Amino acid sequence: MKAMVLTAAGELSCEDRQCPDPRFGECLVKITHSGVCGTDLKIFQGGIPVDYPRIMGHEMIGKVVESVGDDSINPGDRVIIDPVVFCGSCPLCLAGKENLCKQGHLLGRDCDGGFSEYMRVPSKAVFPLTASIDDNSAPLIQVMTTCVHAQRLAPVHKGETVIVIGLGVTGLLHVQLAKASGAERVIGITRSPKRRAVAEQLGADATFDPGDDVLSKVRELCVHDGGDLVIESSGSIDSLAMGIELARTGGRLLLFGIFTQKKMALPLYQLYYKELSIYNGRAAKREDYPASIDLVKRGLVKLDPLISHILPLEDLEQAIVMLGERDEQRMKVILDHSQMG
Ligand SMILES: [Zn+2]
Ligand SMILES: [Zn+2]
Repeated sequence: MKAMVLTAAGELSCEDRQCPDPRFGECLVKITHSGVCGTDLKIFQGGIPVDYPRIMGHEMIGKVVESVGDDSINPGDRVIIDPVVFCGSCPLCLAGKENLCKQGHLLGRDCDGGFSEYMRVPSKAVFPLTASIDDNSAPLIQVMTTCVHAQRLAPVHKGETVIVIGLGVTGLLHVQLAKASGAERVIGITRSPKRRAVAEQLGADATFDPGDDVLSKVRELCVHDGGDLVIESSGSIDSLAMGIELARTGGRLLLFGIFTQKKMALPLYQLYYKELSIYNGRAAKREDYPASIDLVKRGLVKLDPLISHILPLEDLEQAIVMLGERDEQRMKVILDHSQMG
């Protein structure tokens, strides 16, 4: 089979690999489409260390070719693969926090992932897709599960005002999920006029540029002195500082963007004075897959507007380079594996 193999940081090549053989409790999936994400960019650049050679990719869908020892999965099934692998027996797994398993790993980072023709995966990690979710949109379900998981930890209550800072793919998913949970008002904040327009098209009630006197504009719209829940979805310290300012007294902050800085300055007194609660969400759990698929099926979350480019798998390097460039037109880049070989 053909696979895009990372042989060293910055070195990608298309190689012929032996097709994997599924063992008991596993299935063989022919990957048809995958999504490229910031984690792939960091692995490619060497920022996230991996063992070489490595096949990246953790957002993938495909068709089951062979299933061994699990009657619920059959050849021909169109499925999405959960890339989070966990042990199932450690204290965290037994407490239902398998996304935090210390023995756990991520396909496409800690072992080979989906930028290839075929994959061998545990049958329990595949979820059937409904026909109404198209091939290009479906890999985004994996991204969506991480947002669904985070909003389970910091739930949106009916009638609340939710502020989402950063309107990339995950921010736009958070906007839609907050609306689907009954938020009265969802306010989106980003510098990008294009992304503000997409957010409004997807249900945001108001959107602002962060430089545009955002504190007073947001407060005008809020019942309280700020948002009930503020979701930081960009991973920037400045946005987090803004989030602390924008949250109401007694409100909640959901830190969803991944912060890599080790030191930072924040308005900590406000954090205390407003008695803000802080939530973090990491990865997702299996239960988030059927829940996400259902929300898309019911039309409550739209994935198609989040896709900006569809490229053949061979163009993986170009897709990764695009992710590293500042371009407000670029959203999710999807790879179509059907043109392989
Ligand atoms: Zn990803
Ligand atoms: Zn475990």
